[in-house]
Amino acid sequence: MPSTKIPQDEKRAKRLQQQKAWRDANKGRIAIAMKEWRTKNKIHIAKYTEAYRSDNAEYQNWKREYGKRYYQTVIKNDKQQLAQRQRYREAYDKAHPEQRKAISDRYRQSNRKLLAEKAKTAYHAKPADERKALRLARGEYYRQWREDHKDQLRDRNKQYRTENAQDIAAVARIHYLANRERLLEEQKARYKRNPEPHKERTAKWHKENPEKRREHARKWDAKHPEAKRARVAARRARFRNAEGTYTENDISRLFTEQHGCCTACAKDLGKQFEVDHILALFLGGSNWPDNLQLLCRTCNRRKGHMTPEQWAARIGKLFN
Ligand SMILES: [Zn+2]
Repeated sequence: MPSTKIPQDEKRAKRLQQQKAWRDANKGRIAIAMKEWRTKNKIHIAKYTEAYRSDNAEYQNWKREYGKRYYQTVIKNDKQQLAQRQRYREAYDKAHPEQRKAISDRYRQSNRKLLAEKAKTAYHAKPADERKALRLARGEYYRQWREDHKDQLRDRNKQYRTENAQDIAAVARIHYLANRERLLEEQKARYKRNPEPHKERTAKWHKENPEKRREHARKWDAKHPEAKRARVAARRARFRNAEGTYTENDISRLFTEQHGCCTACAKDLGKQFEVDHILALFLGGSNWPDNLQLLCRTCNRRKGHMTPEQWAARIGKLFN
């Protein structure tokens, strides 16, 4: 109904006009009053604004874009502003270390490749001595890290070796076959430098594995017949060159004196005895009967090239 609408519009327009006229007439007073109100309600306003902004994606976007633009066009070109910004940042970081760390972590996470590339370029741009210093520092850092995580590392390695035992053995085998000559050379060199531990280990093994030892010796002789022949020939030559002789009578006498038993293990000799040189021909012993004794085959093999003292110690007697 236009008849009622027109007067209302007129009334409203008149009221607005009056209000505007009042505001114009009281501009200064209004400004002062508003400023007072804002000052009085500062905290309230801030809270309200904060709540509004944090809920408002559009505002967040605007703020980010505006901030970027402002930085690019104004701050970046103004040394004073840049310095101030830097100060603000430092103050903020100092006051909020955890937030600072979170921001940095997030940034590093999402810019990993870029940062790695940058670091690489920067590293290669440095002079050689600085690069060396950096490498040393890094080595020191990792050394310290390993030192600090010793137990953890040991457990991890152990677990890894257990879980991958077969693969590790296969790789080791391949490596050994590919470097066999060099490795054997190195082993020989180690032995030459310090033979004692090796000798001790071997002696211990021989004592604990007599059958295997005999088996090895047999195999070795079969593989090297000329070496065996040379050994026998050398022994015969020593026998021929040694001082003194003995007869079958001397052996019979010995047999009686020993009551038909092995001097080492006291086993009945029967017909299975061997004539042993108490001081081996190899060590300068003679063929005279007083340097002879009868041993069972086993004991004679065990005695080998031992000196009388070594042999006595071995069989648990002070003298033979
Ligand atoms: Zn014996």
